[in-house]
Order: sequence, then structure tokens, then C-alpha cells
Amino acid sequence: MVVAAKKAASISASEASFASLLAKTQYLDAPSLDLVRQAYRWADELHLGQMRHSGDPYITHPLAVTALCADWRLDAQALCAALLHDALEDCGIAKGDIVLRFGSTVADLVDGLTKLEKLPVTTREENQSESFRKMLLAMATDVRVILIKLADRTHNMRTLGDTPPIKWARIAGETQEIYAPIAHRLGLNQTYRELQDLSFKYLKPWRYETLTRATAKARARARDLIQRGQKELEAAFAATKMAVTISGREKTLFSIYKKMRAKHVNFSDINDLFGFRVIVNSQSECYTALGVLHHLYKPVPGRFKDHIAIPKANGYQSLHTTLIGPSAVTVEFQIRTEPMHWIAESGVAAHWLYKAKGNDLAASNAGHNIGAQWLESLLDIQNETVDASEFWDHVRVDLFPDAVYVFTPKNRIMALPRGATVVDFAYAVHSTIGDRCMSAKINGELAPLRTELKNGDRIEVITASVSQPNPAWLSFVRTGRARSKIRQYMKTQAQSHSLVMGERLLVQALRTEGYAAIPAQDAASKAIWDKALRFTGNKTLDELLADLGLGKRIATVVAKRLARLLAEHGQAPDPLLLSSALMLGGDASTAHQFIIDGSESASMTMAACCHPIPGDEIVGYLGHGEGLIVHRSECSAALKLIRKDADRVMPAVWADDVSRTFIVPIQINAADGQGVLAQITSNLAAADANIVHVDMAQEPTTGIADLRLRIAVRDASHLAQVLARLARVKAVLKIVRA
Ligand code: MN
Repeated sequence: MVVAAKKAASISASEASFASLLAKTQYLDAPSLDLVRQAYRWADELHLGQMRHSGDPYITHPLAVTALCADWRLDAQALCAALLHDALEDCGIAKGDIVLRFGSTVADLVDGLTKLEKLPVTTREENQSESFRKMLLAMATDVRVILIKLADRTHNMRTLGDTPPIKWARIAGETQEIYAPIAHRLGLNQTYRELQDLSFKYLKPWRYETLTRATAKARARARDLIQRGQKELEAAFAATKMAVTISGREKTLFSIYKKMRAKHVNFSDINDLFGFRVIVNSQSECYTALGVLHHLYKPVPGRFKDHIAIPKANGYQSLHTTLIGPSAVTVEFQIRTEPMHWIAESGVAAHWLYKAKGNDLAASNAGHNIGAQWLESLLDIQNETVDASEFWDHVRVDLFPDAVYVFTPKNRIMALPRGATVVDFAYAVHSTIGDRCMSAKINGELAPLRTELKNGDRIEVITASVSQPNPAWLSFVRTGRARSKIRQYMKTQAQSHSLVMGERLLVQALRTEGYAAIPAQDAASKAIWDKALRFTGNKTLDELLADLGLGKRIATVVAKRLARLLAEHGQAPDPLLLSSALMLGGDASTAHQFIIDGSESASMTMAACCHPIPGDEIVGYLGHGEGLIVHRSECSAALKLIRKDADRVMPAVWADDVSRTFIVPIQINAADGQGVLAQITSNLAAADANIVHVDMAQEPTTGIADLRLRIAVRDASHLAQVLARLARVKAVLKIVRA
């Protein structure tokens, strides 16, 4: 019995508030109204049984939010989304359900709102609220999402008193730091003022109370003055036959509070509590009205501001002046046209106001001087084809050109250029994280390093101590920081490789001169090193060693010079070392051989002409600035180098445990190209050799195919097995290692 009564009461409560919503949506056509009605029915059904803190049925909240959106004249899709804005989160329905009933636009709007709702709020840290605001704006793919969000927040703030007081500080703080500034940025000044005052009320209840009483008293005292002023103004404008609307306005409590704090003054010192707003029909009349006012009352010097010629960043336009009114009280005046007034009060939302009110204001607005480009598109009522998302794209480009906002695991927000990847993020957090990054989790899911980041992503970089920067990253990173850090790492890496190589070369060359080691860099050897470095033209020993490793200088020449300097300073060569070097004579000595372990670096590469693999006879050639290049001994290029530049040729052998694969080019002549390729591929797979590249040409007259493959093998014996296997393929006529 009681339950039924309660249900009946709640139904009538929601029906009543739906009726008041309908009273505001008369600007919509019949099919649109029908859609809104359907959304209401469904939302009502979904939220049935849920209550607000006030004890009202939950549906009263979406209805109130939708009514605020209707004040901005938002379209039916936005109103439907406003009615359903909490449904995805609270009622267990899926986005697909909304798509089925109301189409993808409404579903996207609701989905966008739900995503914003789920963002972790991080206002406590310094500078984070600004980033959070930007992220919020950047995440909304449609401005209607932001507008509905602001309406949602406005209603929640209006009813904050019903919620447990423990929540007040957090919600009011968030409103003050994030939502009020967003409203301001988008020019929604009415909403901005309301959100500011409401957060002030809950953040500083005592001051709010005091100021409320003080302004009420001041208002009562000023009543006569305001009425007298209004009469004088009306009379003055009547004489000019100009049609104007004059209204009084009052400073918000929060702005009074701010001014008192900023200027360290008392309430009684605030003399611009009240002001007037004059609305005229055209821009030129604004200036005429200014003349009328300055004629009527004396202006305060230095207080006139022309925000028509120079609009504020959010598109706000008005003339401001302060006059010495009746009884020598100073009064602020704002003068503007009606379209300027809409933008002043509703900002971005004025776009819909315009659409709803039609073109008749276009004429009065001709020649309007709009500074900010995004507001120009907002006012471009000729261009009816611009839809909301397209419009929002323009606005956004202006607000934050190229940024993407993402979260660290600790919910810090980082701004990165659009297109930035996980690697950019890792380097932005810390260079060691960048150097060691291996992969990442984005919103809890594993993602590769090259993944582009999206607004609102939460990124956790996975590092490994063995990981190191890869030059391939340079092809996808976007930030200069990541780029330079990767380059720097490559450079130091290359330098340390060539340093090690240079040291080996110098020690080897010194041994043939009869010295076991490179002289220490101590006080005793200072004179030797000074002279030696002057001779080579290097600043430091490390630089000299790196040069030796890269082949920019010849080790034997440097060693001979060092040996002479050492001898001059009384350090004789070791006869034992000398004799063994002379006896064994260079390249036969294992001590003089370079062990090639297959690793490649800036100071050690495999020659591209002959592609040596383990098992091949090899030699090293110290290229000019290229480090050691490993050739096959039979390579014709190497033979030529041995003849012409023997000083730079080093004996080399393979290490016993080379554990990587090498690319070898092979050439096959085969009958019937198409058919044979499949057989070759499967045989290569069976022989555990990967194909890296295939090129095929067919001789048109003979039909003989010329296949050029690059395959990966472990060593010479592996290659021999592979070639033998391929030779058994029937169609293969000839097969050689290229
Ligand atoms: Mn809500």
C-alpha cells in the first residue's frame, strides 16, 4: 500500500518536471519533440527505483540537466543525451542499446560524457587543473558533450546541499578549479558566475553568509539610487529616440570576495556592487549610447574599455565605462547589442541560440567586428551546413592546437604533441625510462612502443634493465626530447664501441714495438702524452682511441710514435715481446687476430659486398672513419684493399660461439619460375632458413627463371645444407651463393 503510494508520488513528480521541460522545448519541431519524449520515457524506466540524496526520484536530475540544455536551445540529440547521461554508468545498459533506439550520435554523446565521468581527478597538484581542463576539452569530440557536462555540474552544485557534507569540499573544489574555468573559457559567463558562487558557498560557507547579508543591506540602501538612475537614463535615451533596454546588474558574491582579497579592502570599500546594462540595436548605436551616457554623467577617467573593437579571447564584446552617477556614486555600465549579449552570457552555446532564433538578427549584426576566429564561425549563420562536431573542431584547433593529454600511473597529466607515442611519453617522464623502455600498458592493455597516444589514456611504461634505445624509434617519435635522447645514446654507444676497438688496436700495435701496454696517464707520463696527443691532434686519450677504432688514425703509426717517446724517456722496449713479435711476424699470431663474434656496431660491420658468415675465411679492414669492416678473404674488394692499403688490413677469425643468423644472397636458375618458387620456399622452411627477400625475373624466350633470394643462415655449414637441399629440387638448374 505504502509502496504503491510512494511510486505514484514519484511518477507524478517526474511527470511534473517533464512538463516543465516541455515548456522550454517549444523551439523544436514535432519529430524532435517526439524523440525527446521517448528518451524521457526510457530514462525514467531505467532510473526507476533510484533516488537522489534529496529523496527525489533520480529522473528529476537528468530532467533538470536537460532543462538547462534547453535554455541554450540545444538540439534534440543533445537533449536526448542529457536525459540519458547517467544511464550507461548507472543502469547497466550498453552503448549499442542507445545506438539502436536513438542512433549513433546520441550514443556517442552519452559515451563521451561517461568517459569524462570516469577520468581520475587530479586537481591537488600544482598546474594539474589547467591540464585537466585541457584534457577534458580535448577528449570531448563534440562541444555538446561539454555543454551537457556543464549543465550536469550546475544541477549537482545547485543540489549539493542535499548530499553528505563530507563530499562538499571535493566537489566544490573541482567545480571551482575545473568546471567554472571551462565555462569561462567557452564564454558561458552566466554558468561561470553561478558555478563560482556555488563553489564559494560550499568552500567558504562563513564568508559566503557574511557577504550575502552585507549585499542584501547594501541593496536595500541603494534601492532609491538605482530607481532614480534608471529613470534618468530612460529619459535621456527617450530624447534620442533610440530603442534601448536598460537593466540593473549586481556583482557576484565570489567576485566581491576576490576583489576584497586581491586589493585588501573592506566590503564598504567596494563601490561597484551595482551597475547597469544597456542593450541597443546595432554596433554603431553602442557608441552613440556611450555618448549619451557621458553627456548625462561624468565618466571616471581611465575606466573606459572598448571590448567591441578588441574582443576578449572568449569572444566577449561590450563597451565598459564607469560614471559618477546620482549622489556622486560611481556606477559601471556595459553597452552591447543583443547578439553580443548572448555571446557574453552563453558563449559557445550562442551558436544554437542563433540557429533557434533564425536569421532575422543577421541584418542588425552586419559588419560585426568579431576578433576571435572561432567566434566568427560561431556567428556565421549563413553557413547552416556546419554541424556541431565540425564547428567544435574549429574551436578546438584554436584552443589547443596540437596537444594530447595523458595520465601517468600516478594520475599526473602530461601534455604531449599530437601523434606522440609511448616512447615520447617514456622520455617525457624520465630519460632513463626512455632508455630502458620495452613496452607499455595503455589503460591496462599491453601496447607496442610505437602506439600513438590518445587523450585520457593512462600509460604505464614497462622497462627492462637490458633494454636499450633502438635507432628504429627515430622513425616514429614526435618529440624533440625523445629524438635527441635516442641520438645521444646512439652516439655514446658508438663512441664506447670504437673506444674499445681502438684500445685493442693500439695495444696490439704497441706489442710489436716491444711494449706490453698503453702507458698510464699519470704525472710521470704526462710529457709523453702531451707530445703524443699533439702529434695525433687529439684533445684526450679517449678521443684518440675512438679515432683509432673508427679508422680515422692508424694504430701502427701512433704506436711507433709512442714507442719513440717512451724510449726517449728512458723506458726501453721489452726484448722478449719484440722477439716474439718479430719471430711470429704479424698475421699468423693469434694474439694479433681480431675475434669476430658477429655483433655489429658503429665500429664493426659485415661487408655488404661479400656477406661473410661464420665458417668463411675472413679479414678485417679498418675503413676511413667506418671502423672495422669484415670481408671474406676471397672477396675481390678485400683483395684489392690488401694490395693498396695493407696497413689497414687486420687478420680476423670467427669466435666459436656466434649465435645469430646472417643474411646471405643466393642466386637460382630454374625452369618454370612460378611453380618452383613454392617448392623453394617450403624447402627453405624445412631447412630452418628464413627468406628475407625474393626477386624473380623470367627470360621470355627460354622460360628460365632467375631468382635472387636473401636468406638467413647460421653459418657456412648451415648454408651448405640449405644449398644441397635446394639443388635436389627438380626444376632447379643452377644454384650459387651470390
Ligand atoms: Mn549527472
